[in-house]
Amino acid sequence: MEKSVYISIGTNKGDKISNCKFVIKKINSIFKILRVSSIYKTQSWGFDSEFFLNFIIEINTSLNPLELLEKLIEIEKLMGRVRENKFSKNKYESRFIDLDILFFGNKIINKKSLTIPHPKLYDRNFILVPLLEINPFLTCPLTNKNISEIILNCKDKCVVEKTSYVFDFNN
Ligand code: ADP
Ligand code: MG
Repeated sequence: MEKSVYISIGTNKGDKISNCKFVIKKINSIFKILRVSSIYKTQSWGFDSEFFLNFIIEINTSLNPLELLEKLIEIEKLMGRVRENKFSKNKYESRFIDLDILFFGNKIINKKSLTIPHPKLYDRNFILVPLLEINPFLTCPLTNKNISEIILNCKDKCVVEKTSYVFDFNN
């Protein structure tokens, strides 16, 4: 059965707009994209470096969560991200592209290699602000709160600025 999945996309290395365009085309060639947020310019979170561009997409997939994670890691690799170990958490780092699964239907997963809902989503403006834009009523299966409620409790002070860039990923 197809599931609705929310993916957070971030880049802070190289030509960031090109990275966003490339990744959305790539994802569009594999998955059915249902919604795309605006692109947001955000201060780097947790370490000092270049600003990030962040956005969120909703896709439909019949893959299971681990299969989807594998696909996303393949795309990160294709775009030049190098990891010490595929499933290891590195410290914060610059990256051409970071693809995180936020929600996977109503699934709750607590594996070493995969945690869903994404554990950091509750305290990151760069995730919550674009999520609020595309689906404020989306309900987190873990907390039973929707995005507009979650964002009210978020203490993150990082500035997240909407850009005017518009995707045209069909051509
Ligand atoms: P972060 O995205 O927190 O900055 P990384 O991208 O370096 O950290 O971490 C990557 C690893 O995190 C992946 O290889 C994967 O095994 C693990 N992981 C756990 N939960 C998730 C999730 N919901 N989405 C993506 N990766 C996840
Ligand atoms: Mg990641």
